[in-house]
Amino acid sequence: MRRRDALRLTAPSTRDAFELGSPHGRAEGRPVSPSTDTSTFALRARWVIPVASPPIAGGVVTVRDGRILSVERNAVDRPASRTFDLGDAALLPGFVNAHTHLEFSDLAAPLGEPGMAICDWIPRVVAERRRPERDSDAAVRAGIQESVRSGVTAIGEIAQPNWSAPAIESLPLAVNVYLELIGTGPQRAHELCAMADQHLRRTAPPDARWTPGISPHAPYSVDRAVVERLRDMPLAMHIAESRDELELLATASGPMRDMLAALGAWREGTFGGLSPADYIRSIVADASTSGFATAASAKASRTSAPALVVHGNYLDAESLDVLAASQRPVFVVYCPRTHFFFRHEPYPLAELRRRRIAVAIGTDSRASNPDLSVLAELRFLAATFPDVPPAEVLRMGTLAGAAALGRSDECGSIEPGKAADLAAIRLDAADKLTPYEQVLHGVGDVLATIAAGRAVYDPLGLIAAEPIH
Ligand SMILES: [Zn+2]
Repeated sequence: MRRRDALRLTAPSTRDAFELGSPHGRAEGRPVSPSTDTSTFALRARWVIPVASPPIAGGVVTVRDGRILSVERNAVDRPASRTFDLGDAALLPGFVNAHTHLEFSDLAAPLGEPGMAICDWIPRVVAERRRPERDSDAAVRAGIQESVRSGVTAIGEIAQPNWSAPAIESLPLAVNVYLELIGTGPQRAHELCAMADQHLRRTAPPDARWTPGISPHAPYSVDRAVVERLRDMPLAMHIAESRDELELLATASGPMRDMLAALGAWREGTFGGLSPADYIRSIVADASTSGFATAASAKASRTSAPALVVHGNYLDAESLDVLAASQRPVFVVYCPRTHFFFRHEPYPLAELRRRRIAVAIGTDSRASNPDLSVLAELRFLAATFPDVPPAEVLRMGTLAGAAALGRSDECGSIEPGKAADLAAIRLDAADKLTPYEQVLHGVGDVLATIAAGRAVYDPLGLIAAEPIH
């Protein structure tokens, strides 16, 4: 985010403080005190974990006008500020969910059964989308509330053309709204580019924190020509998600061909002799060689805008080489529990780390995951990959995620000048563990969430309560 934009986060209106997507005009738990919006206040916790620097025992984070003013080792006598003691808690940057589809947030459980083939699961998603009584707006709002309860303050959202702008524009959360582009054939390609162009033209209201991006859905569901025409845009694409996808690309056959035929979406001559690396090349190619869809999207382009390769469960050596050599910032978004839901082969995390390919974390949607908690994803990852240093695990769900959304100057760590996006986690693990381990190996829940200095989740009244001095 440019500096000018970042400064627009300050001083949200008190009216907005009561309107966090709740029909009753209240944030989850209890009403947010308007007085926390514009004044200076400080938060003390047993551990402050800034992520970009070592943990601080008994640290104090001071917030002014929605931004982090200071991070200190001990309480400083600061008569002008109110200090709230979070007690036996860790104060972290708000989590970044780099990939989700909030439209499915009303699902009580994933569609289908664990271990099912993705080609059996996708038709269920299609059927869910066609369910007549479906209220995707309400689902998005529910997903936002759930995210906030989970300590998430930044989201990479894959949105439908009718995405719920009112639900997102009024939020203090940082949201990248990647418009989903899906469908094949020349006529559809033309439509998709026009839709993308229109979406990228949208501008957010002054206090809003959303930015537009595009999401060509997957190699099997959108033409490569569309990807290439729009590749310089902020972009997220599902790639190398399943073995069936690789088989389709390479041989134009297999279960995914059958699925596409059953859905009426099979097009002869599209696949064969391809691999995920071809699609990754399409999105990481040097900007100077690419063509823009229109003048408007050229204006909206950011040649340094990160590209997200979502899932990457079956990235082969060639794909990994292309990713590692990319000039464009590119992130692989690992969705640990969705990966587990489908019982995929072991995730290539060691290969990604060995080649220094950046990894961010997503929950994916509730259609394949039990909830939208990035903290739960990180705890699952830490248990699955005990060799990965806990500090690195936490970084994937915070600072790396912020960088993946093009927001590392704005959020993802507790540093002076950044937005005051914070999550307080109850500490319940043994003291002898490091603070990172206490967060990742414990089961403590989210006590409070602050976005742009606003207590958007504070069921215990820790922050809105009377200050201790
Ligand atoms: Zn997804």
